[in-house]
Amino acid sequence: MKQTLVGMTQQEITQLLQEMGQPQYRAVQTAAWVYRKSAASWEDMTDLPVALRKKMAQECELGLPEAAHRDTAPDGTIKYLMRFADGVSVESVYLPYPNRVSVCLSTQAGCAAGCAFCATAKGGLERSLSAGEIAGQFLRMQQESNRRIDHVVYMGMGEPLLNYSAMVRSLFLLRDEAGLSARNITVSTVGIVPGIRALAEEDIPVTLALSLHAPDDALRTQLIPTARKWPLEEILEACSYYTSRTKRNLTFEYLLLGGINDSPEQARALARLLAGRHLPGNVNLIPFNYVETPQGFRRPAREAVTAFRAELEKAGRPATQRMTRGNAIAAACGQLRRQTEQHGFVPAAMLSAGKQP
Ligand code: SAH
Repeated sequence: MKQTLVGMTQQEITQLLQEMGQPQYRAVQTAAWVYRKSAASWEDMTDLPVALRKKMAQECELGLPEAAHRDTAPDGTIKYLMRFADGVSVESVYLPYPNRVSVCLSTQAGCAAGCAFCATAKGGLERSLSAGEIAGQFLRMQQESNRRIDHVVYMGMGEPLLNYSAMVRSLFLLRDEAGLSARNITVSTVGIVPGIRALAEEDIPVTLALSLHAPDDALRTQLIPTARKWPLEEILEACSYYTSRTKRNLTFEYLLLGGINDSPEQARALARLLAGRHLPGNVNLIPFNYVETPQGFRRPAREAVTAFRAELEKAGRPATQRMTRGNAIAAACGQLRRQTEQHGFVPAAMLSAGKQP
């Protein structure tokens, strides 16, 4: 099997090129083309000798995922279906804001966590991605963008901490090879306790986001199966350890499901749950992005979201409400891929998911 360049560190590229009889500076140039100058092909690497490019093309793959589909929303959000060499595909999202550009990456094709409200959960886990496949999503979007991507969130398909070593390796690739700041990278988890503790020990203080979604284990286990294995007490202790080690604030994600977890009493319970431990950070309120479920989950009323937020802030816990972007293109986790699989690809204008029927 051919080696793939995307996924290798500059040091590994140096070794590879040494075997081809090339000096160190050729590896520096090559790594720069891959990670900083968005080369799409060997031909793009114009300061490398033609003979070397030919030899590399014979012996290696570049290894960027193919952007198999793109859907652009009026707000500029682009949802990609990224396809890897073996035909497996995942979703990635490009999110331009006036003052920054953020992308959302997948760490697995499918997911084993089985959360009741999540579109990705429905098909189970297909396979985990390699570090190069995770970083490659970023590189493909950077290559297509005329703005510099400076923020990355690991909030696409999959559970990052259940693909631990490849996921961590991809963090180092993005920081050390692509030049992103660790503080601009967010890893979101459903609450895998050993993973949170291990990540705290890595020398890369990214922002940790915890998907809470409920103020107590009784409700949380109904929404998130892994909550049976790791109760809130243990998860929050691990988060507290994470923030102590890394000195980074945490983010608490709270998905709001109408009539399930969106009452003022639950907001107060949430504030109490987070109080009294070392857990600095905001609660990020995410209104449910509609997907069909046996439970008939629905979006919360607008007033419920506002009231929930007000209760949290009254209790001293800062809260933000996630802007809903890309609704018109079914940008919620796992929606595009499912539609593509079920109906063949559907143009953006025809997609109705993301809107409540
Ligand atoms: N597995 C990780 C990261 C991927 S999901 C995690 O659970 O955190 C990223 C976020 O999207 C999570 O907070 C997840 O709960 C949320 N999410 C999943 N399905 C959603 C939906 N239908 N509407 C809104 N948010 C959703």
